[in-house]
Amino acid sequence: MAKPKVAFYWCASCGGCEETVVDLNEDILKVADAVDIVFWPVALDFKRKDVEALGDGEIAVSFINGAIRTEEQEEMVKLLRTKSGLVVAFGSCAHLGGIPGLGNFWTRDTIFQRVYQEVPTVENPEGTTPQQKTVFDFGELTLPEFFDTVKTLDQTIPVDYYLPGCPPPPDLIMNAVNAILKGELPEKGAVLAPDKAQCDTCPRAETKPEKLSIEEIKRPWQIKIDPEKCFLAQGLICCGPFTRSGCGETCIRANMPCRGCFGPVDGVVDQGAKGLSAIASILGVEGEEKMTEEEAKKLINQIVDPAGTFYRFSLASSLLRRKRME
Ligand code: SF4
Ligand code: SF4
Ligand code: SF4
Repeated sequence: MAKPKVAFYWCASCGGCEETVVDLNEDILKVADAVDIVFWPVALDFKRKDVEALGDGEIAVSFINGAIRTEEQEEMVKLLRTKSGLVVAFGSCAHLGGIPGLGNFWTRDTIFQRVYQEVPTVENPEGTTPQQKTVFDFGELTLPEFFDTVKTLDQTIPVDYYLPGCPPPPDLIMNAVNAILKGELPEKGAVLAPDKAQCDTCPRAETKPEKLSIEEIKRPWQIKIDPEKCFLAQGLICCGPFTRSGCGETCIRANMPCRGCFGPVDGVVDQGAKGLSAIASILGVEGEEKMTEEEAKKLINQIVDPAGTFYRFSLASSLLRRKRME
């Protein structure tokens, strides 16, 4: 019997999601044995024309990581959508916009200005920036358009399933692959991870006080972090209350607060707004029922980068989605 065809593709991505496929260790041999990989540009020499030559829906499943930042990425994911029975958004960037989605705090012009002119290590006296078309004696060279706004995968093509995480952990990947091979998938649109918050599975959950009140917000480098105690109870912002579980509490076990890469649980539309509301509700001054405006401002100002803290992985998928364009 013919093996199911599988494709892997990366868009605006750091490459970590591709690494995690290799992190499957010997399980990658089981995957390679069970499926026929027909497209995986980072590892194997396939070309776009190889995908174009396949019939519509011929690829059983395409795992696509990375956000959508360029015209080329948009074209490729549209092509893969046509050729695939299932599309899985693989990792935070494809799922929520991820770290590249933070680019939505700027525009293409301000990004080009910074990257190609202002960065101290750049020497560019003529202020050259990438052009979509450049004419040389020998002909014309083109580059794909760099969009002003970063999009998630499902803002570009319909997505069947989501594998969360930055990157998704190997056990969740194997569960997803096995479920696909056995045809035991949940309802379309599902996130393939438990629908529980980090706090529900956290090894420090018992040390999280029932009634919590943060009087001073600290950053991890400012204190000696107690390795047993809830981070919030130590004044450190932990995204656990508004982040899906399933990673095995990787950061928490390494004595670092959760930063939110698994995205929200089902039913939460905007992870950042949920986080802002969760953290705002536990700020307070001991012994006082209400803070004065001044006290509140002082506390809030201790959150050095609120947008980056609460929307670190999900800005592109949030209700605001991007900074307003001029
Ligand atoms: S989800 Fe994380 S690991 Fe994967 S491409 Fe994005 S930044 Fe890299
Ligand atoms: S806030 Fe963070 S450290 Fe505290 S219980 Fe929740 S996940 Fe664990
Ligand atoms: S603890 Fe939080 S940030 Fe770390 S891997 Fe898990 S979900 Fe991601």
